[in-house]
Amino acid sequence: MEAAEVVAKLIDLPGGQALLDAASGDESVWLVGGAVRDLMLGRTPEELDVVIDGPLDRVLARLGGEAERHDRFGTATVRLADGRIDLASARSEQYALPGALPDVSPASIDDDLQRRDFTINAIAIRLVDAELKAHDDALADLAAGRIRVLHSGSFVNDPTRLWRAARYSTRLGFELDEESAALAALASPGAVSGERLGHELRLSLREDSPTAVLSAVEALNPGALIEGFDPNPARLAEASALLGSAGRQDLLTLAACCQGVELQLLTRWLDHLQFTASERDLVTASSRWVTASPLRSAQSASQIAEAAAGAPLEAVALCGGENARQWLTELRHVTLEIDGDDLIAAGVPPGPAIGIGLKRALARTLDRDISGRDEQLQAALEGAEGPS
Ligand code: ATP
Ligand code: MG
Repeated sequence: MEAAEVVAKLIDLPGGQALLDAASGDESVWLVGGAVRDLMLGRTPEELDVVIDGPLDRVLARLGGEAERHDRFGTATVRLADGRIDLASARSEQYALPGALPDVSPASIDDDLQRRDFTINAIAIRLVDAELKAHDDALADLAAGRIRVLHSGSFVNDPTRLWRAARYSTRLGFELDEESAALAALASPGAVSGERLGHELRLSLREDSPTAVLSAVEALNPGALIEGFDPNPARLAEASALLGSAGRQDLLTLAACCQGVELQLLTRWLDHLQFTASERDLVTASSRWVTASPLRSAQSASQIAEAAAGAPLEAVALCGGENARQWLTELRHVTLEIDGDDLIAAGVPPGPAIGIGLKRALARTLDRDISGRDEQLQAALEGAEGPS
């Protein structure tokens, strides 16, 4: 696709018209990276990536919207009513230490293309006149479906590019060229901070085929994942369908992949990757749940509830089977028409008996032994009196 056609396509994209307006008469504004790549491939970019040959201020002022600036790198994200634009001042990067964030300095657009991850992302189009600048191999690699680093130190400087390569190859159906793949295998993912690795893992889990991305990561460099991690766990498809939109699909996938990871190692890894405490607990609990059998062996609705209530829905989904399906689709929604106040009003003294009575009424309701307020109250009162 010609550069001019790429620019013309912007009009139909969220934020595209605003960007064209802001770039009008301004020779410093270039569409770059993923946005150009995706448009050239006939895909719709997630957001518009823009490089400004100079400071961002004037373009930001013309764009309006809400700008979030990250001054260390001279970048900003602008959220408009209808889209997101990521802007950066053209810069070059120096890596003092492998895996650390680079030191950046202002540079030309040509230099800026040189700092990028892969040739297919080292393409820029100036918006005012559709001038194209690209790495020598960029257009050929884009046409051939090839992911190629720009220099032999690329993965050493920034091992997060392993994850980026895995996402692009899966999403676009591209392949790394032989030399890039060999370089990927030599990188040290451990040189990257947990925060940045966690970010890459989270992005990967949100892709359409997360297990394919994780398998690609493992194939490129097994050291990127921890011991026992299975990027292609059995039964995940069933669990994912069971969970639907009731829970976190990304954490379900992660838990499924981590069933074989030793618990302490898993907990430490998730903390290192800066998952929140509740995300970590959900993943660890769900990844262990598979070994618990009460849900699978439950014979009645109340036994299913006994086994599943309080467990993360992701854990139940991973357990799989008919009982899990019943819990997720029906039983977890069953509630009583009475509460503790009804029991107190009926003369039960406040205390543990209330909870015991309500639990008994819920169990019998789940088993369709009783229904409606009156029968529930009766059952709860009997339960509150003692074991039946
Ligand atoms: P996506 O569709 O996932 O957003 P993208 O290619 O647009 O893919 P971004 O993370 O939005 O990726 O980054 C925009 C551009 O910035 C990339 O296309 C690439 O040129 C450059 N880039 C981003 N991260 C890196 C990195 N770690 N090393 C080098 N270049 C990078
Ligand atoms: Mg992008």
